[in-house]
Amino acid sequence: MDIKMSRVWTIKAIFLVIVAVVMAIGGLQLFKHRHYMMPIVAGPGVTKVVKLSDYSRGLKGTMADTNVFFLEGKEEGGKMLLMANTHANEPAALLAALIFIENAEVEKGTLIIIPQFNHSASRNTKPGDGYPLYFEIPTNWGKKKIRMGNRDASPLDQWPDPDVYIHYPEEQLLSFIDVRNTNRTWPGRANGPLMERVTHGAMEIMRQEKVDIAVDLHGAETMFPVTNCIVAPDKSVRIATMASLTVKAREHFDSHVEPSPSGFRGLSHREIGDHSDTLPFLLEAPIPFLDQPTGPKTEKLLLDGKDPFLLSLSRKGKLFVSYDETGWPMEKRVGQHCSVALELLRQYSRKFPQREIEIRNVPRYAEVVKNGVGHYYHDPKKADKDKVYHN
Ligand SMILES: [Zn+2]
Repeated sequence: MDIKMSRVWTIKAIFLVIVAVVMAIGGLQLFKHRHYMMPIVAGPGVTKVVKLSDYSRGLKGTMADTNVFFLEGKEEGGKMLLMANTHANEPAALLAALIFIENAEVEKGTLIIIPQFNHSASRNTKPGDGYPLYFEIPTNWGKKKIRMGNRDASPLDQWPDPDVYIHYPEEQLLSFIDVRNTNRTWPGRANGPLMERVTHGAMEIMRQEKVDIAVDLHGAETMFPVTNCIVAPDKSVRIATMASLTVKAREHFDSHVEPSPSGFRGLSHREIGDHSDTLPFLLEAPIPFLDQPTGPKTEKLLLDGKDPFLLSLSRKGKLFVSYDETGWPMEKRVGQHCSVALELLRQYSRKFPQREIEIRNVPRYAEVVKNGVGHYYHDPKKADKDKVYHN
């Protein structure tokens, strides 16, 4: 080999080493994120914790299996299923569900909570958009570190994607990526693609446990018309309207009602109602972080919702929510989810007193805004070991 050739090989080898080092550093961060465990302290209301695979066998041993918290009241009554992290990049939902799990005391009826519904997506990220891998919520005892996930399940858990996703059972053609989106795979199948087994598990909970109402918590862009709202099909619309009017009058925030379109398949607010006796509701709170025309996707933007580009768009009337210098902080979004979920329960219980659900010790909007979200989380180091669940 002449000197010129050996120099080329040396340069190639150096590049190879640099690429290997970059891949190792990046890969290690992604590996740690995928395996990071967040502790949840089961509060006084939690009576048992089971796995979603107890209702959908095909999830056993997979990364899509997830914890299901039962809070059974002293007295019999109605049942509510609360789901968060259907989209794991809309974290106000998870934060609200954790407030319920760590604090709620159930007097009457049963509360069933799945805090990380798309568990695989909670261990996925969106490198192309520069998502932070984690975010931290200040508490009275330090910072609670939480994984920031993605909208869709990880391809490590469900792969390959089809060219088009054919919805079951309606056979509507959906985008290929929706096969990993647990708000398109309802009602699901026991032996379908992994995400269909997730939604099938929730359908089985609703059918077997005779759940009265299901609330699916989300966040939506401020430039998207279906934001800051309760999405409800015809059968749920009366209760949704009462809840919307009540929070507006008593708590002074907007959460209008949007009808669930009957021709758009796979969504929780459509399929749950069509395939069970449960009344579904999907709650959207604004999440400026997900809007396209923002500055960098930082942890700060995720938490305070402040962005100069959105502010200028707001002044041009391009946003579907009111927006000013105060942004849209996390505590407002989480507080809205808590209040609207509690109000749906209250309205349901008024309409069906024989299926009443009575919960105490969950804060409403004004309290969460005043005290901050972290105020309601407990220190896992000080809790009894058998009360701490790793998620
Ligand atoms: Zn969503």
